[in-house]
Amino acid sequence: MGIALQKLPPMLDPLPGGKVVINAVDFIVNWARANSLWPLVYGTSCCAIEMMATGGSHQDWSRFGVEVARASPRQADLIILAGTIVEKLAPRLVTLYEQMPAPKYVIAMGACTISGGPFYYDSYSVVKGADRLIPIDVFIPGCPPRPEALLYGIMKLQDKIRRESIRHPQRPRPIFNLPLSNAMTVTAKAWEAEEKQKQEQIKEAQEKFKAENPGFKQYQQPRVQKPDMPEISRTPRALPGKPAPELFAIIKGHFPSIEVHNVPEVSAEKIAALGVEYVLDLAASAEQYIPLINFMKHNAALDLDFLIELTAVDWKTHFDIVCHFVSTTHGHKIFLRCKLPRENAEIPSLAAIYRTAEWHEREVFDLFGIKFTGHPDMRRIFLEDDFPGHPLRKDFEDASRVVKRPY
Ligand code: SF4
Repeated sequence: MGIALQKLPPMLDPLPGGKVVINAVDFIVNWARANSLWPLVYGTSCCAIEMMATGGSHQDWSRFGVEVARASPRQADLIILAGTIVEKLAPRLVTLYEQMPAPKYVIAMGACTISGGPFYYDSYSVVKGADRLIPIDVFIPGCPPRPEALLYGIMKLQDKIRRESIRHPQRPRPIFNLPLSNAMTVTAKAWEAEEKQKQEQIKEAQEKFKAENPGFKQYQQPRVQKPDMPEISRTPRALPGKPAPELFAIIKGHFPSIEVHNVPEVSAEKIAALGVEYVLDLAASAEQYIPLINFMKHNAALDLDFLIELTAVDWKTHFDIVCHFVSTTHGHKIFLRCKLPRENAEIPSLAAIYRTAEWHEREVFDLFGIKFTGHPDMRRIFLEDDFPGHPLRKDFEDASRVVKRPY
């Protein structure tokens, strides 16, 4: 239908009354398009919740003709970008946009989508604005924008569609190929110059005012005295399962040289003094790591059958591997950390003991570059295979991605 419509203007426009017919066709086509937008939802983080709320019964975007939210680009003419776009997702977004049939429209919802938002500075993975990838029709600022703002953005898009004409049909729009990060864009430079000029004008006006009003005294807001708030005592609540001193005693019986983080010359009494809310935080050596974890899993009294988390910390001088275990039968938890050198950091994998370790260890490998010997599939998990370096290491630098916070 689109191609047939495009043939009409050159035929009808020169005829008497022809322009009126084209204007009428424009009106009908635009009315139909603007009031039957089918959105491809692209919710990647918190803004998506607001987008879902907009589609829900209270806000109900169907009232504006935004009807069936699609899960396929082939049946959608509007993509609502709601949330952070990470570098790994960028080529997928471009593919989705390319797969949408024309005419197609894009709404960028929220600060993350518009500019990277709260992740603009110091982030190694967030695209600093969706318009670096695809053309955007409507930007909706906010963090997050409320459903009313999205509805207003949709109405603005509808206004834009109503101004279209079959005389100038939407051509395939360019896929941008801008760097994913660019600290000093032309706009940023212009803004900086404008801001500088404004500051100078303010200073000038202040000095002039002072000269003209030498006796002027600025109003001082009287300070309100802070009321004395009584301290309310809190009753500590005992953690579920076996208490930390008892867990420590069991482990100490089998691993006499075991240490506890931040408790020098540890004993069960010292641990008891830390209170009933203290979670035992073991500091194991690399030699103790596997035997100790095996023991904690298979000892009936400990029964730490679930590895909740395995991560790492970069202390600049060394790495710590940090594991959180829980016993699903007893309810108690134990933390365990193991110190590793920063150079060629490597430690045996826990994948044969806990299946959950597989993905945790891949994450640590991806972000810190720590290797896990014996891991069945030691590959990156979040970042592209050719990502340069490991971004959670304190010495990670990549000027093409990371915009350093200027303050
Ligand atoms: S703009 Fe704010 S609310 Fe929206 S995705 Fe980003 S952080 Fe979340």
